[in-house]
Amino acid sequence: MTNREVYERDCEELEQYRNIGTVEECREAREKQNPKKPIWKQEIGIVHKDYADGHGETVEEKWADWVCPNCGWFVGEQYIPRRHNQRKSNYCSRCGQKINWNENLEGIE
Ligand SMILES: [Zn+2]
Repeated sequence: MTNREVYERDCEELEQYRNIGTVEECREAREKQNPKKPIWKQEIGIVHKDYADGHGETVEEKWADWVCPNCGWFVGEQYIPRRHNQRKSNYCSRCGQKINWNENLEGIE
């Protein structure tokens, strides 16, 4: 079986999509089923904190966003320095890319 034949066979499972889309769209949809690692993007923000005793201070806060490797859409976030990931999405809600959280992503700098 050639790669082309394997591909055609797999696409038959998506028959209803082929009827409304192109073969190219079918291939694209299949590629998004291959999980990809999200991209780590560090952000630094200035946050003003007010305390109960009336004084306040400006502190620098660091965090990181995990973004879709396809389209850059937010798929999760990480607190620094605790390296805690949260709000993790299994799929990009914009383009449908499957996100791979299985690898050790905690220690990326
Ligand atoms: Zn995306």
